[in-house]
Amino acid sequence: MPVIDPDDYDLACEVMHDATNFAVAARRGLPADAIVQKSDGSLVTAVDVALQVFILTRLEAIFGEIPVVAEEDMHSIGGKPAAEAHCRALLRAWGFDGGESAIERALSCGGYAGSTRGMDAVWVLDPIDGTQGFVDGDHWCPCLALLSDGEPVFACNGHPTLRGGALLSASRGEGAWWYPLAGGECTEAEVSQEPLAAGESVCVVGPARATPNQIAVRRAVGESTGHPCRLVHSDSQAKYAHVVAGLADVAYSRRGGGPGKYIWDHAGGILIAREAGAWVADTDGSDIDCSQGRRLSVNRAVICAARGVGPLIAKELAARDLAEGFVPARGVR
Ligand SMILES: [Mg+2]
Repeated sequence: MPVIDPDDYDLACEVMHDATNFAVAARRGLPADAIVQKSDGSLVTAVDVALQVFILTRLEAIFGEIPVVAEEDMHSIGGKPAAEAHCRALLRAWGFDGGESAIERALSCGGYAGSTRGMDAVWVLDPIDGTQGFVDGDHWCPCLALLSDGEPVFACNGHPTLRGGALLSASRGEGAWWYPLAGGECTEAEVSQEPLAAGESVCVVGPARATPNQIAVRRAVGESTGHPCRLVHSDSQAKYAHVVAGLADVAYSRRGGGPGKYIWDHAGGILIAREAGAWVADTDGSDIDCSQGRRLSVNRAVICAARGVGPLIAKELAARDLAEGFVPARGVR
């Protein structure tokens, strides 16, 4: 049995609601020296780190001590005094009164790296997915998922750039729901099952900063469905929300030659999209294995599609994996 009662998922949604609104405000006043590079060259800001501290501290106060897989840690902005100072200032403004020991605790607890199979509850957190988009004024989203026995059972992602600002949340078997960030009525998220009409364009999500080659590949993958292809641009789990919102028909992420995608970039979006009625699977049609720890290390791709085109996209991506010399997904020979 999960140690978290599904009746209490709303409490986690409230945390993400507050966190997303705080981040929206913090973005407006973000000083240039609060944006720094991690050792791997990726971008991180004081807001990413402050948000992780805020979210994990609130979750622990509500739900108790639960293992966490989270993106940020002590090294994210460590040794960058201006970013560290801005992080502390944000936390004070958000009413955080935990002090340095609580900050250190929230940034040290997210390193769980083992299999999550057999574990009742594990949080998966990316405080800001799409930090480049956060800085550029493009799409970004705070993303929280709960795994039970290695599978996502609850998710809540903040989408300030979609539908006028909304949270998108799902729990397994209970559907997915949009909640306006400004407050008000929630509405059920439903992915269209209506097949594309002859000659209608299939809309595929591509990276915001796509290279000409990435654009050409995305178009060709879309056109493999037999339809003209139109691209929309989004990074982060906002790409799955595009499919859920009916702004795109296909979002996919390929592993390529890498070690597997980070789980915090996908787990919540997978549950939300599936609960909303999207087709979500690997290139061989198999499920996405979220139990492997920090990465989706056994999957070739995460494909999320509406309107019946999922299997066609999967077939095309499987063929490309073979042609490009990548190990096929289980089942594809
Ligand atoms: Mg992030």
